[in-house]
Amino acid sequence: MTKIVTALLFLFIGSYTYAQNEEVTLEYIQENDSIIFQVKSVAIIPIDIVSKQVDTIFPKIVYKEVATVFPNDSVRGFIRVHINDFENLKQARKERKIYTVEAHYGDRRNAKHDSTYLYTLPYQRGRKVEIEQTFFGKSSHKNIASRYAIDFGMRTGDRVYAAREGVVVFAIDHFTEGGKRKELTHKANKIVIAHSDGTLASYAHLMHKGTLVKKGDTVTKGQHIGYSGSTGYSGGPHLHFVVREPGDIAVPIYFEDYEGQVLKRGKRYKRKH
Ligand SMILES: [Zn+2]
Repeated sequence: MTKIVTALLFLFIGSYTYAQNEEVTLEYIQENDSIIFQVKSVAIIPIDIVSKQVDTIFPKIVYKEVATVFPNDSVRGFIRVHINDFENLKQARKERKIYTVEAHYGDRRNAKHDSTYLYTLPYQRGRKVEIEQTFFGKSSHKNIASRYAIDFGMRTGDRVYAAREGVVVFAIDHFTEGGKRKELTHKANKIVIAHSDGTLASYAHLMHKGTLVKKGDTVTKGQHIGYSGSTGYSGGPHLHFVVREPGDIAVPIYFEDYEGQVLKRGKRYKRKH
């Protein structure tokens, strides 16, 4: 039966802050002539479950629904599929009843970036680091999820510090490879930290075994959290740093000592505090 579920539902279609599969599980229950879906979460922050019914003939979304599943809880009944559709995928396709379910970290309806917050530069105090790519950077900071990302020219093994206090949503450091190959897109080691305003910071391309924090840890601003590297889709060692509202929406961020300034590509910035 599991096979049918994966055939009918395109689960967790890859992206940036999508939930790790092992933290969210999708189950189904039969109720009379319907199959009802239930999502359970063991993540430490709320997760938005976005379910869509897609018209397969004229590719468009027929309906979209968002449910929020809270830590160690479940949400039930957000998709109801007739038993016949469930058992006959081909028929469901003909009748344009294809469903997708995505899971995103964060509760979109209760998150709003505090635009007055001043972040600390994520490297050692007293150090100067060059900006390799900034907001709307031509090589990879173009889409809604990364247009306000900043690439710091840090080397493999350089210490990475928390730019803002928060709670570690997850920390991955088992990946070993890096390069400009498509299959490495989702293979960057990273730390994701949830802030009090509901936004999420991502520190990406960390080195293999380069994290010092784990899921659930509380971190302070300026805490040493890991080591920079070049894992995943990366042209060379650097730290890709971005803050997002839930749903993968990057937000502009500003730093202490450089208030109101967009960091410029090619310029070096000193962390003074
Ligand atoms: Zn980047």
